[in-house]
Amino acid sequence: MKIEFHGAGQEVGRSCIEIDDTYLLDSGIKVGEIVEYPDNIARREDQTVQFPAKIDFKKIKAVFLSHAHLDHSGALPLFDHFGLNCPVFCTAETRAITEILLKDALKIQSFKRQHTVYNEYDIEKVESMMKLMQIHTKGKVDNVEFELYDAGHIPGSSCIFLDIDGKTLLYTGDINTTDTQLLHKIDELPHADIMICESTYGNRDHTPREETENKFLDKVQEVLDRDGRVLIAAFAVGRAQEIILLLNKREFNVPIYLDGMAKEVTNRFLEDPHSVKDPQALLAAVDKVNYVEGRERKKIIQQKGIFVTTSGMVTGGPIMQYLKFAHDDPKSAIILTGYQAEDTNGRMLKEQGRCVVDKKMETVKCEVSFFDFSAHAGRQGLIDLINKVDPSILILNHGDPEAVKSLAEVFKERKVYTPKTGDMIKV
Ligand SMILES: [Zn+2]
Ligand SMILES: [Zn+2]
Repeated sequence: MKIEFHGAGQEVGRSCIEIDDTYLLDSGIKVGEIVEYPDNIARREDQTVQFPAKIDFKKIKAVFLSHAHLDHSGALPLFDHFGLNCPVFCTAETRAITEILLKDALKIQSFKRQHTVYNEYDIEKVESMMKLMQIHTKGKVDNVEFELYDAGHIPGSSCIFLDIDGKTLLYTGDINTTDTQLLHKIDELPHADIMICESTYGNRDHTPREETENKFLDKVQEVLDRDGRVLIAAFAVGRAQEIILLLNKREFNVPIYLDGMAKEVTNRFLEDPHSVKDPQALLAAVDKVNYVEGRERKKIIQQKGIFVTTSGMVTGGPIMQYLKFAHDDPKSAIILTGYQAEDTNGRMLKEQGRCVVDKKMETVKCEVSFFDFSAHAGRQGLIDLINKVDPSILILNHGDPEAVKSLAEVFKERKVYTPKTGDMIKV
């Protein structure tokens, strides 16, 4: 079997793995100031695409999409544009959320006047290629039998199990090995000969979830008690819903607001009760929340309240407007609830207490607070999972070099690979 890593090799972003020149596992991009595609496509300064890429799209007979996040799905319209024409297998929830995210990404790129390498038509074409699969239902394409397992990462996320001519391969995509408010943890996974496992937190463990949850709720109360406003920066998919579920565990005597793309995504989860662990709890939480229309922001931010909004890394979205009003108020707080990538406002806030507000770099006077509500397995969770799957060949991807190397150390008795982007492995 030939396994080529077009992305996510000792990095997080642009996950895209090609098997035997015939199948793709994920087709993602690396989101940043300049979007990076698999195989370093489109890295030229003017954003034009250099082709041919290493992938011969005409030969690809199926894509298996683990979940909707753009670092796994974002390159699909580009690949379509350059000739990909085959089924894209994924869950119904993945299709629905991918559609929302791809359209939003195109909007942002057009807004920033970045040269977009695909258009709305390509997104529609991608949707039409998507073939819906249920978790735990077997499928067959060409000479591959496959099955999806619940990955516990975001609604619709799956691990992909392939049987190619009797050789089995398990690709984890992104996984969470602990229960959250929104989702059950990852399924029990089957044994596989080859396992390609994510390693985002390969070198560190998370604080126990309950402890993080309680400290977060205490912090919200503390800010309200001193008459401050609470801004909560949350990713639209998963995190925002996790936060409103959590807020609903306590009684806060102020309005709770939900803003940004999180509203649309929340509505989608409500439409499909199977997508979340406890649909009734989500419904109850949504009932206590006010959806914000753009024109209301200026007014509601003048009063005490809890504002849950995108973007999660404070790099655009309604949070920027709220921040304009709250950044110089020492009683108020901005709470970051997840990973903050390099060169984002969120990272600057977390590390230096400053960020760009209204086009100017400002040292903020409000409190900045961070809670690790990660949707990824911690180091110990990954180790336990790999031991259970017990592969004869372990391949670690989707992690910074330190994370990947540290996890590989644990399994040095096994055959373990830590490919870089561009590498090919023959097994
Ligand atoms: Zn993900
Ligand atoms: Zn990912």
